[in-house]
Amino acid sequence: MRDFAYARAGTAESAAEALADPRTSVIAGGTELLNWFRLGIAAADNVVDIAGVDELRGIASDGDDLRIGALATLNEIGEHPLVIRTAGALASACLQAASAQIRNRATIGGNVLQRTRCPYFRAEEPLPWPCNKRDPGSGCTSLAGRHERQAIFGWTQDCVAVQPSDPAVALAMLDAQADVLGPAGPRTIPMREFHLTQREAADAGQPMRETRLEPGELITGYRLPASADGQAYVKVRERASYEYAIVSAAAAVRLDPVLPGACGAGRIAAARVALGSVAQRPWRLTLAEAELPGTPLTREALIPVIERAMADAAPLPQNGFKVTMARNAAVRALLTAGGAS
Ligand SMILES: Cc1cc2nc3c(=O)[nH]c(=O)nc-3n(C[C@H](O)[C@H](O)[C@H](O)COP(=O)(O)OP(=O)(O)OC[C@H]3O[C@@H](n4cnc5c(N)ncnc54)[C@H](O)[C@@H]3O)c2cc1C
Repeated sequence: MRDFAYARAGTAESAAEALADPRTSVIAGGTELLNWFRLGIAAADNVVDIAGVDELRGIASDGDDLRIGALATLNEIGEHPLVIRTAGALASACLQAASAQIRNRATIGGNVLQRTRCPYFRAEEPLPWPCNKRDPGSGCTSLAGRHERQAIFGWTQDCVAVQPSDPAVALAMLDAQADVLGPAGPRTIPMREFHLTQREAADAGQPMRETRLEPGELITGYRLPASADGQAYVKVRERASYEYAIVSAAAAVRLDPVLPGACGAGRIAAARVALGSVAQRPWRLTLAEAELPGTPLTREALIPVIERAMADAAPLPQNGFKVTMARNAAVRALLTAGGAS
């Protein structure tokens, strides 16, 4: 671990000003950043601690929006009555992340900036194998090696990693906006566009870029439009706690009012659905969202809609199972959100 200078920021503005120096990192809960320093994934000369900046805290209604400060911890979000009532998928995603101890420290600002769990990327330096994210131009060991947990959408020959955040999937599904403060002043980034696939990054001429956050920008919080839709977050993993998703799905469903005397399954009036751990960004199934209104809320009716929306999946030789698993997670999330499961 390299030495670094440590300072505490008093305001969001002073933290953003400090970030203008590319040798400076901000630290919130430190659950990611300190691991990166230890593994050699990142190094900084200066670390500015934002944990004491009160304006970055809090969870409250703001007009029709729900506003969540960047320093809110995953447990604070998951247990907050307002979030449970109006953004249940996000509350559930937060409480299914990591372990209770980590959730008490991990912030929602740092969570969406976590890096991939690809084991070739997460190795301690000196890196014993090529990894384009660690050493651009060296190659992707996962592509020819183990890649069963990797992407089925948006990957390139340069990198096949996925973004592992649970809350980011719910934020993207709920049409949340990130509020950021940077050298050019404040701006917002829609969470469904916050992360980039490898293909999107390559097309933009920056193949290893992972988000639309510009250097020097601080996330101050998130804004979520109030929603009365039923919601769910389904996480498929190898054990029930302290484990990353193999795939996940977040969904929100509004049903058509049931007519008196009608029988059978309710029909969907509107639905939103996003997959997690299938790409380097949360994957909204927009084709399905367009097709779902009018569809009965049954497994049999939902499966073909989700399959059509996932027809462009491009699994790697070892992860074809993720296509079926993600389809089933999306169907289960929709059924649960609509109250049919
Ligand atoms: C063992 C373990 C298991 C985990 N399991 C899961 C899981 O199942 N699901 C899941 O979603 N996550 C999981 N996580 C990830 C965890 O949720 C994140 O590490 C955490 O949320 C990061 O927040 P932090 O405050 O600790 O970030 P830090 O480590 O402080 O910072 C991480 C990065 O974000 C930057 N940053 C922090 N805050 C801001 C801000 N406001 N604006 C701009 N940049 C900022 C930092 O500069 C740094 O680059 C796990 C982590 C660990 C260690």
